[in-house]
Amino acid sequence: MSNASIMIPSTTNLSIWGDKMAGMKYRHVVILGGGFAGPLMAIAASPHAKKITLIERYSRAPNEEWLGTPQSDHGHYLTKKGQDLLEKMLPGILQELLGKGARLIDWGRNTSWSNHGGVTPLYDSGVRSLLFGRKLLDRTIFKKATELSNVSIMTATVEKLEFKNSRVESIRLNQGQVITNADLVIDTRGRMAKMKDKLEQVLGPIPERTIKNNITYHTLLLDHPYNPAVDVQQFFCQPDILNNGIGHFASPIEGNKIAFTVSDYYGDSSSRPFETLKNHPWLRGKDLTNPKIFRNLSSVHTQYGSSQSWIANYLLVGDAVCRLNPVFAHGMTVTLEMVMAFRQELLKRNRISTYRLQRQFDRLIRAPWFFVQMDSIRTRQNPAPAGIRALRDLIRAMFFTTSSDRNVHLVALRVIQRTTSPLALLSPLFLMRILVNLAAHRWALALSAFYEACAKMKQPNHH
Ligand SMILES: Cc1cc2nc3c(=O)[nH]c(=O)nc-3n(C[C@H](O)[C@H](O)[C@H](O)COP(=O)(O)OP(=O)(O)OC[C@H]3O[C@@H](n4cnc5c(N)ncnc54)[C@H](O)[C@@H]3O)c2cc1C
Repeated sequence: MSNASIMIPSTTNLSIWGDKMAGMKYRHVVILGGGFAGPLMAIAASPHAKKITLIERYSRAPNEEWLGTPQSDHGHYLTKKGQDLLEKMLPGILQELLGKGARLIDWGRNTSWSNHGGVTPLYDSGVRSLLFGRKLLDRTIFKKATELSNVSIMTATVEKLEFKNSRVESIRLNQGQVITNADLVIDTRGRMAKMKDKLEQVLGPIPERTIKNNITYHTLLLDHPYNPAVDVQQFFCQPDILNNGIGHFASPIEGNKIAFTVSDYYGDSSSRPFETLKNHPWLRGKDLTNPKIFRNLSSVHTQYGSSQSWIANYLLVGDAVCRLNPVFAHGMTVTLEMVMAFRQELLKRNRISTYRLQRQFDRLIRAPWFFVQMDSIRTRQNPAPAGIRALRDLIRAMFFTTSSDRNVHLVALRVIQRTTSPLALLSPLFLMRILVNLAAHRWALALSAFYEACAKMKQPNHH
């Protein structure tokens, strides 16, 4: 392996997590991909490895422009649970992000939350978290990884992995370099990893589940002076996707910018959803042409953990295992859960079982998968047998009720932020509140129709 491509020298000898250097488990850990999961896995592995090489295709030199993944230009939330996990791993990081311009908001007080039921009145929800751009987050975590003395960064593109005797035997990079001495390879190449076919040649069939959708994200990064004196700091508009597929969220991030993302559920190549929002107070007078566009947001989970056997020195983590439809913003949270599981395994055992971990990663996908399934049920594209239609109506009713019932809003908020189990949505009290609200709404509609009819009857007939 050539040393010429090692870009960033490491400086500190400290383990960020303070994990005991309990005997080196690995001589050389190689991490493929330096997006979100890669640096976090490097930090987790650091106390247990003599040497870690993190390979990223884009230069991460401190003074160069940060080329993120294609999605990093789009609005990104890290759920409250994700932020708690991140802080647990890297104490002080949230404060650091605040110092770099992230914004702290309350999701009830500072968010204009709307949907087909109307606009939820502002209130103090106590659900508070930071908003920041994806590049700031990635940069901050990446820097922490590079500060570890045993982590080296290599700018190169991984081209091929070769397997032999249930191990990764070699990693081939562009420009011809080959790495053959890795005793653990962690693949965090995100959507680009595409390892299913290759692994099936070695391990046999690997199941994959997909939930298709046509969602397209359109995002503009706009100048918007941050004003802490006003209540509404962000907009969050859920579409009623049976009737209108356009939703949006607009959040303040560092640098006095807002990330304004429009989600178009029935997007096609010619749609210009920003046009439908041109009267939005934050968009008036702005140039709405040329938003960044991201298509193909179907959810795909390759169930590597279902394989009967596994590669002894290989782990797949993050989007490399599962790409989630991002409307509920759970991708990074589940990735953080995987990193935590890896760390626990390292602390508990002398040698980790990649087989057991890969299975555990699959289990971590259950909760976010429930959400993407719920989202897809809401669309009219989905074939809807009676049972599913009932569930769809219930979900629609729940979102409708978030605008009129603060308790329903708060439970939905906590579930989406992953601080409460999704089972809370099935509690009898919660369901009762939705039904009572809906009944009251129907009554109000019927009454107003009745009064309107009476008023018409009283009007003198001019004809
Ligand atoms: C439009 C969109 C919006 C999203 N919004 C949210 C959100 O609001 N909240 C949320 O939690 N999640 C969101 N997600 C999901 C989130 O982006 C991912 O879950 C997260 O990035 C996963 O991290 P990762 O490290 O697995 O992959 P990535 O962050 O994609 O990192 C992969 C890295 O591997 C590198 N790489 C790829 N191929 C190679 C190669 N051959 N050689 C070397 N390096 C390589 C890439 O350059 C990249 O740096 C969104 C996703 C999309 C598409």
